Amino acid sequence: MVYLDANATTAVDPRVVDKMLPLFTETYGNPSSKHGFGEAAGAALRRAREQVRALLGAEQAAEIVFNSGGTEGANAAIMSALEASPRRREIIISAVEHPAVLALCAWLEKNKGIRIHVIPVDREGWLDLAAYKAALSERVAVVSIMWANNETGVIFPVPELAEQAKEFGALFHTDAVQAVGKLPIDLKATEIDMLSLSGHKFHAPKGVGALYLRSSVRFKPQLKGGHQERGRRPGTENMPGIVGLGAAAELAAAHMDDENVRVRALRDRLEQGILAEVGQCVAVGAGAERLPNTSTIAFSFIEGESIVLLLDRAGIAVSMGSACSVGSFEPSHVLTAMHVAKEAVRGAVRFSLSRDTTEADIDRAIAAVPPIVAKLRAISPFGSQEGAPQALDQAHV
Ligand SMILES: *Cc1c(COP(=O)(O)O)cnc(C)c1O
Repeated sequence: MVYLDANATTAVDPRVVDKMLPLFTETYGNPSSKHGFGEAAGAALRRAREQVRALLGAEQAAEIVFNSGGTEGANAAIMSALEASPRRREIIISAVEHPAVLALCAWLEKNKGIRIHVIPVDREGWLDLAAYKAALSERVAVVSIMWANNETGVIFPVPELAEQAKEFGALFHTDAVQAVGKLPIDLKATEIDMLSLSGHKFHAPKGVGALYLRSSVRFKPQLKGGHQERGRRPGTENMPGIVGLGAAAELAAAHMDDENVRVRALRDRLEQGILAEVGQCVAVGAGAERLPNTSTIAFSFIEGESIVLLLDRAGIAVSMGSACSVGSFEPSHVLTAMHVAKEAVRGAVRFSLSRDTTEADIDRAIAAVPPIVAKLRAISPFGSQEGAPQALDQAHV
């Protein structure tokens, strides 16, 4: 199988697994315990916190709070900000946020009367900076804008947005789940107050992540319990997961520059290979600044779901739009916000690469996609078929 769905999740790096295994059966102490087992666990916890601090360029290791991942981080950040400044009853988000932020804000608007400003993006995926500035005021408790989009890879100028939020005393949170491990981050040089990350998007296990909390932020934990994570996230620490997260952070920091060059070249070859062979399709967000590993291609007049199915039968795993919208028949909110043409938005397929992606994987994908698109277009029930005969010719089907 060729796996090109890294933005949904990645394999745990075998070197990460090696570091985790002893935590299950040997150094399985509770870091709160006062004996040797506890001390060993405490040392492992400190090491992991330092590894994550280094990857983020945070000032202090104590600013890293381990948790269960991106969804928890975003919920904790936004809920805390509202509780910390009860007179501020507005939130700013972008139109292309992950459901972790979108669903919470929809709930807050409906049930708590919080006003949500949704900042639009343009055709390429760039954020509307004028609309963002216009929405900022002293009524805003928190801005939550993602660093990089999971469906398109488009990168937002988050450090600049954070500076502008500061002028109004609003807290700034970024869902950096897709950015961490792929983009160089130096938090101490920014005004970002809170950042969420998730291990399983960069070769650590699922169900572990971290929330960065700048030391100046007054944090209001939503979970009440013990003193773990300085009371900011009570509950006995997920030690194997946390050690895995730390190891993955260290590997990402060490290999990011080289890997980005390699992965970007593979992604560009894949994208150009498909665009050259298939008519009536566009690379979504290709005109904006993008993550090096992501390519979403919208194929007109066919269903992304059918492409995903046939590629799976051909041994290639990709996803349509976002894995989070699987099971819903709604077209992707991200591509809709980007005004991707109606006949193309349903035909969007996301290819996302990782450290594990090889040249051979890309060769197979480039060979597999054109005949599948041609086959589907030949039986497509949609209107215009202008591009189909040409695509059929090219694919020799
Ligand atoms: C995967 C993802 C999340 C959710 O992270 P979990 O750890 O799976 O909860 C949030 N935001 C973005 C951009 C993601 O890609």
